[in-house]
Amino acid sequence: METTTPSITVTHVLEHLFCPRFTYFEYVLAMPERQEKRWKVQKGREVHLERTKVNKSYLRKKLNVVKREFDVPLADAELRVRGVADEVLTFEDGTMGPLDYKFAKAPKKTFRTQRLQCVLYGMLIERVFQVPVNRGFLCYTRDNYKIVEVPITARARTAAVQVVEEVLQVIEHGFLPLPTTQQNRCVDCCYRKVCIR
Ligand code: SF4
Repeated sequence: METTTPSITVTHVLEHLFCPRFTYFEYVLAMPERQEKRWKVQKGREVHLERTKVNKSYLRKKLNVVKREFDVPLADAELRVRGVADEVLTFEDGTMGPLDYKFAKAPKKTFRTQRLQCVLYGMLIERVFQVPVNRGFLCYTRDNYKIVEVPITARARTAAVQVVEEVLQVIEHGFLPLPTTQQNRCVDCCYRKVCIR
């Protein structure tokens, strides 16, 4: 018998990190997360505006970028992840990497979710374009377009694959995962009326 293997988006992985129960409500019970859709549309508009302000000579001189591609759809059946990268950069040495925009100030230490997003896009780029990827970048638009490098190491890849597996386990087996340990996240959550903690 033929089986269908679900794939998930990079955004779904981030939602799962926010709270694993998002995966359950959205995928198992098919309750849409409307807040996220609005956010995506908003982000799409802002990316178009902001990327024109990124210092092109910085990208070229400091990062040796020789080519930029915008809004690149990416998918890999083996990784079972898909998504659209804000930018895909090609470097002078032939390697490539993602550049993702964050409409915020740069944190002192980059958030795990943002690093993981970069790593997943990097892994997708590597598989789709068949070129080595060893770094990605985050651009913080509210911090004078500060660009922060995210190393895409073997360890980071393993951690990213583990989270993807966690998401797929919930979808495939349909169990209610443990809630987020950070109860402050429940205050504005769109699922708070149906979620019994
Ligand atoms: S109410 Fe809290 S535990 Fe439930 S889905 Fe929302 S964030 Fe997660």
